Amino acid sequence: MTKSNLSYEFINAIKSIEGLQILTQENDRLRYSRDFYDYSPILLKKLNKCCAELVVRPETVKSVNIVASLCNKYNIYLTIRGSGTGNYGQSVPLRGGVVMVMNLLTDIRHFDEFTGQVTVETGCSLRDLDKFLSNRGRQLKLLPSTWRSASVGGFLSGGSGGIGSVRWGFLRDPGHLIDLEIVTMDNPSKIVTLDASQSEPINHAYGTNGIITALTITTAPLIHWHQIVIDISNWSEAVDLIKCCAQSATEIYLLTLLENKIVNCLPDWVGKSKNKHRVLLLVSPDSVRTIERISQRFDSEFISLGPEKLTKGSGLRELTWNHTTLHMRSSDKNWTYLQMLLPKEEIKLMDKLKKIWGDDLLWHLEVVRQYGSQRIASLPVVRWRDKDSMELLIDQCKELGAVVFNPHVITVEDGGLGVIDSDQVNAKKKNDPKGLLNPGKLKGWSNNR
Ligand code: FAD
Repeated sequence: MTKSNLSYEFINAIKSIEGLQILTQENDRLRYSRDFYDYSPILLKKLNKCCAELVVRPETVKSVNIVASLCNKYNIYLTIRGSGTGNYGQSVPLRGGVVMVMNLLTDIRHFDEFTGQVTVETGCSLRDLDKFLSNRGRQLKLLPSTWRSASVGGFLSGGSGGIGSVRWGFLRDPGHLIDLEIVTMDNPSKIVTLDASQSEPINHAYGTNGIITALTITTAPLIHWHQIVIDISNWSEAVDLIKCCAQSATEIYLLTLLENKIVNCLPDWVGKSKNKHRVLLLVSPDSVRTIERISQRFDSEFISLGPEKLTKGSGLRELTWNHTTLHMRSSDKNWTYLQMLLPKEEIKLMDKLKKIWGDDLLWHLEVVRQYGSQRIASLPVVRWRDKDSMELLIDQCKELGAVVFNPHVITVEDGGLGVIDSDQVNAKKKNDPKGLLNPGKLKGWSNNR
């Protein structure tokens, strides 16, 4: 187990901060040094031994500010953590140091009744924020399927999209984030407010270039979503069906298609598997009949499950996005996954790869909006063979025109488009000049050191 290399001077200074909880026990340090990286056997091997030397939980922005100053003064690495549901080891402290858990900073500071914009501290859970909004006739535009546990700050810094992406695209699209309050990692540390343009490089940077303490985001009018299931035997017809749904004048919050072999392994919350491929939808009440009419053009079975009950964690939305992988892994830990945006001719790619990989590759599709157009993203479930096979599969996906977002890597760039974003690196130079925030996760910074 990692021993602490932190000096007594530093620890004493940390202990004197008001409004800061300190956890030193080994089990806490271990617990707060893990996330869901075990979905990837590659990351599991790489990250399993990483451990924080100290864990702190700030109760105020002021205490975040003092921790940042002290870490800078004593050259201590600092890794920020929301709820630790990331899949890429995003909140794992690669080089030890301090892990700062943000989940006590939960204040919803302001709600603008006219615009629906909300300003919230980043440790607030998405569930609590969505509940607050629904009492005011609004809702979040985007949610990860971990919305019950994930924090607002963790979603913005480590997530990308999810439920709602079929209508609202992805978190980095202009129009979601209005401003950020960040704490810088210098000495003395500053509390700075950034407008939407200045916030762009901090959005989805894994907490490497600023500690976000609050943010303002836009919201959408509240809709009481209805759950629909459509079972269908033919895969290419199923793909046509989801495209027809996406192109209709209906309001859709979630549109997922799962291959039958996945459906067979999922909990049967929304109906027992009939060994058919399954479409899962959340739609507005006035869209239910239209979706039924569309489904009748295909040889399919339409099932309306009525309004969503959000009090239970066993709804349709908890079968989608990376919850699909979660359930598959509950049935067999040898399943892992990939993430990609499919090319326009999706079927060609899926058929070719199916021929090569057989049932070691099961298709899971999510309809999303990308740059204003409807596209199909995929989180295929992949049976783990070895690292070389995974790399071969990734190469084949790319050759066939998919854009792969590799979930078996640890840097912001490798998990995204693979390119270094100089704005992110410049924001790090400015807000974290010593490079102490979440070290090893921003390739553009590490490459220059
Ligand atoms: P953490 O995992 O704690 O942190 C994520 C990153 O954000 C880390 O790099 C951390 O350092 C940084 N960070 C956290 N708080 C701050 C802050 N205040 N300031 C600066 N940096 C900060 N992701 C999706 O995008 N869509 C999905 O649908 C989705 N589904 C998932 C399903 C499952 C079953 C699992 C296990 C994961 C899923 N994820 C999904 C990934 C993950 O749940 C989301 O990205 C989630 O929003 C992360 O939130 P968190 O609070 O757990 O963040």
